[in-house]
Amino acid sequence: MDKQIALERKVLSENDRIAADVRAQLQDRGIVALNLVSSPGSGKTSLLERTLAALNDELRIGLVAGDVQTENDADRLLKAGGKMVRPIVTNGACHLDAKMIARVLPDFNLDNLDLLFIENVGNLVCPSSFDLGEDMKVVLISTTEGDDKPLKYPSMFRRSSMMIVNKLDLLGTSDFKLGRVTENARQINHDLQIFELSCRTGDGLEAWFDWVRETVAEKRGVLA
Ligand code: MG
Ligand code: ZN
Repeated sequence: MDKQIALERKVLSENDRIAADVRAQLQDRGIVALNLVSSPGSGKTSLLERTLAALNDELRIGLVAGDVQTENDADRLLKAGGKMVRPIVTNGACHLDAKMIARVLPDFNLDNLDLLFIENVGNLVCPSSFDLGEDMKVVLISTTEGDDKPLKYPSMFRRSSMMIVNKLDLLGTSDFKLGRVTENARQINHDLQIFELSCRTGDGLEAWFDWVRETVAEKRGVLA
């Protein structure tokens, strides 16, 4: 086997082992964990700010904000009312891995958590390969990007369970077509659940909030 490939396999199997441990800790307590992935600038932090504003009083929400440099996003989430926010500065690494999550997990009081959002580094390539122990990956794409991104980055869209199309308010200012992005995404992943919204105007956000509520309630129900 090619040495590079052998090394990558080793890194990923080590990652999967740690991710399984993280997942077990979260599952034991019925915590829903969502791994948000996208290109830089698609609106992951904005979606989390909006989600905090709407659900912070109802649900106990933990947030991990990953970035290559700066704790700017973590600061934004704190300002938005986040009570349990942990930044992860990767210092150059272009994705989060399970070891980074395992390291911050003890900072959260897991017995007092309903929901854990992990904001990954803005990058549509390698975050797809790294399991973080989440229930699902949620991929964001904004209407200012190309609607062929699902075709260009298929493994990210294949490994995500949900696609959120953000910046609905900017629809029509470029060649981006909702029908086309949906078609492209479903071609890669037939089962992909899709939300269309605008974090700026609030359009479509209620459906997302309802989905989050239901997903948390469902998991609690399973546990009870
Ligand atoms: Mg961000
Ligand atoms: Zn990477």
